Amino acid sequence: ATPIALLVGTGRGARLGILIKGPEVLESTRRVDTVVLDKTGTVTTGRMSVTEVRAFSPTTEADLLRAAAALEDSSEHPIARAIAAAAPGEGPLPEVEAFQNIPGLGVSGQVEGRAVLVGRAALLREWAVAVPDDLLAAQASAEAAGRTGVLVALDGIAAGLIVVADTPKPDARQAVADLRTLGLTPILLTGDNAGAAQAVAREVGIDEVVSDVLPADKVDVVRNLQEAGRVVAMVGDGVNDAAALAQADLGIAMGTGTDAAIEASDLTLVRGDLRSAADAIRLSRATLRTIK
Ligand code: ADP
Ligand code: MG
Repeated sequence: ATPIALLVGTGRGARLGILIKGPEVLESTRRVDTVVLDKTGTVTTGRMSVTEVRAFSPTTEADLLRAAAALEDSSEHPIARAIAAAAPGEGPLPEVEAFQNIPGLGVSGQVEGRAVLVGRAALLREWAVAVPDDLLAAQASAEAAGRTGVLVALDGIAAGLIVVADTPKPDARQAVADLRTLGLTPILLTGDNAGAAQAVAREVGIDEVVSDVLPADKVDVVRNLQEAGRVVAMVGDGVNDAAALAQADLGIAMGTGTDAAIEASDLTLVRGDLRSAADAIRLSRATLRTIK
């Protein structure tokens, strides 16, 4: 290999907002046939908003949202940011004690002396909170519409539902088309529910979806694909994605994402736009051709 060609390649990459960890990375771009894309923050903007709040009597919607917002104010999750931003009324949020973040499930803590849980049904069940069928039905209808419904429990009782919505990045559909042009098969991977995942997949043109994956299991999805003979690129942004990014034959981090994701990756897309994922692979392959 001539170092000059590598420099040209990486220099052009830097101008396009693509940082390459080392020249050995170029070789993996040639063999890759599958691209696993994280959903939230990678394919979608990750800037979610609250679209609906439902509270079971005697809890009011304002009461439910206020307790959930207070708790979520301590979390960096996109769902948490949406809920904290939707806090009703003026003034500071109530203080939170014993805050806990349970990755892939939700958050728990004490707000004004009340035990509050916000997250998936599995989180409520873990705390021995019964999840009534009408609440699950409301969540299912939100999810069928492509949204994410998180449940709220107050003092051990399921009290309601907060629905949040995310939107694909404006360039996501074109980015997926670009990846296909390079001969790569896209797969959407997410901890979110199947309904929300399918809706995003449809909008951006992805056929294969793996949903409801716990953070610790994302790496297994990549490993299973590799064991099936696929050469896998993984694109992600979250702390949750770090192990999968490291396991992938080519790890690609969103520069707008977490340090953990960037450190685990071979390539970083500085501007966080998904189209540069295809640019990066095309440029790396072209650079290799120049060398050979
Ligand atoms: P993704 O893979 O899309 O980045 P995560 O693994 O972070 O998703 O989260 C999976 C699911 O866990 C979310 O869709 C949500 O239902 C629940 N969840 C995670 N964190 C929170 C939180 N802070 N508040 C409420 N729900 C949460
Ligand atoms: Mg993410």
